[in-house]
Order: sequence, then structure tokens, then C-alpha cells
Amino acid sequence: MLSYQHIYHAGNFADVHKHALLSLFMDTLVKKSSRLCVIDTHAGRGAYDLDSPSAQKTSESRNGIKSLQDKTLPGLSAWLKIIEEEKLYPGSARIARTFLRPQDRLLMAELHPGEFGHLQSCFSDDPIAHARMISGYDLLLESVPPEERRGMVIMDPPYELDQDYKDAPHHLHLAYKKWPQGVYLLWYPILRTDGERMRSELLTSLRQTGMHDILVSEIRLQGVPAEGFAMHGSGLAIINPTLPESIVRTASETLANALVGSTKTFWLDNVEIAKETGLVAI
Ligand code: SAH
Repeated sequence: MLSYQHIYHAGNFADVHKHALLSLFMDTLVKKSSRLCVIDTHAGRGAYDLDSPSAQKTSESRNGIKSLQDKTLPGLSAWLKIIEEEKLYPGSARIARTFLRPQDRLLMAELHPGEFGHLQSCFSDDPIAHARMISGYDLLLESVPPEERRGMVIMDPPYELDQDYKDAPHHLHLAYKKWPQGVYLLWYPILRTDGERMRSELLTSLRQTGMHDILVSEIRLQGVPAEGFAMHGSGLAIINPTLPESIVRTASETLANALVGSTKTFWLDNVEIAKETGLVAI
């Protein structure tokens, strides 16, 4: 039984990290006019009302999107413009959709029936957006390679069950074997309890798949309230990044400064840096 609902966490610092970088990648992908397919394996509800009682209950957006108001964030204008123009706080699917053109496709999976209902309403009558209530891992494997041959996979599991730490790298690798040209963006949390070990195992699993060109951006908050949520860090592993490392690093630094945290950007198969960041040697 799934209990995770993203509305309780929407707009938090990890969302800011994930959504800002997603926007940067989408922006580069739409520079070419050829068709694109975006697959969002864990789409959530599409857009989130940060003033709703559920979101207010945790107020996680206070350490996230709300803390960015009045700060200058050079290089992130495409994402900020979307937030300004959308009525509700845009999640991954909504952000991807705003970049897409009529010739493109957006495929989404969401397993939670309530969340799926919201997702459907968020994209009702949209001819290029297709939401299904199936596992995102299944959607991914049956959709790649897409006929467009160009595009991106967003994988944002809830990690409510530890199994996601194994399922995510495993399915990314299966998809990569069928579609090595795809751009893959995997998000993962860094939790206070045991989180560094889980993170390390996840990154080690990714390395062990033998996939190359995996760029990692991580942000760790300096001060997380002792009570409440246990996540103090957010990570993104990008396979086949279509942006130079320096742009990802600069954007991560801008965000980390604004969120009052620290950041690291590194290539996963760079053994030197991997040692420094505590990855298990393979
Ligand atoms: N990407 C979203 C947030 C997703 S939160 C955003 O940025 O807005 C993770 C979501 O995955 C939750 O809504 C949860 O219900 C859903 N979920 C959990 N397991 C799943 C699975 N195997 N396949 C698809 N969705 C799943």
C-alpha cells in the first residue's frame, strides 16, 4: 500500500534542486527542432498547491522555494519564469510539459490512485501528455527506445521502501541498454539516519552497471530542523548530460548558496573524486 504523497514535501529544497536542474536540461533539449519524448516514471500529481492544508502541515517549502524569494539566481531564469507563470507550484511533469512542443510527447506513470486522479486533471485534454496508473519502471521499459529517438527520462521514486534504491539503478540500466542515447535524470535523497550509506550504495550500483558519463550534483543543507523530516541532502545523477559540467556546477552552487547549504558536482566514474566522496571502491 502506497502512502507517500508528495504534497507534504512539495517545493522543499530537494524539489528546488531537482526542478531547477530539470529545467536547465529541458531548455537545452528543445534547442533542436526534432521531436522529443520525455518519460516521467514517478510523476506525482503534476502541480502542487503550497497553500493547501497538507502542504502547510509540514511547510517544507519554507526551506525551499519560499526561501528563494527576493534572491537573485543567475542562470535559472527559465525555471523561475515557469514558476511565475503557473498557478500552482509545478512538479517535474508540469515543468517538462511547459518546454515541450506540439511535435513532442510526455509519458507519465503514477501508481497512487489519488495522485493519479490529480495528474489526469492537470493534463486533461492535452494531446501530447499521456498518464498511466502503472509502475514507472514498467512504463520505462515498454517505452524505450521511443520512436522519437531523442529525449529524457525523469526518475524520481519516493524511496519509501528501500527497494527503490535497488530498483532505480537496475531499471535505468535496463533502459539504457535499449536506449543508450537517452538522457536520464535520477533523483535520490540523503537522509540523516543511514542516508550516507544508502546514497553510497545507490551510486555504487550505478557505477557497477558500467554506464559511463554520469554527472552527479548534490546539495546538503547546513541547518535542518531537528524535528520533522530527516532529509538533509538531495542528489541528482544525470546519465548522458547534455550540458557541460561547469553549467551544472554553477547552477548547483547558486542554489546551494541561496538555500544555505554546500554542494558537490562530480563525474561518477572519476575514481579520484569518488574516493573523496566516500563511494565504495569497485
Ligand atoms: N516527480 C514528482 C514527485 C514524485 S513523488 C514531482 O517532481 O512533482 C514520487 C511519486 O511516485 C509518488 O506520487 C508516488 O505515489 C509515486 N510512486 C511510487 N512508486 C511508484 C511506481 N513504482 N511507479 C510509479 N509511481 C510510483
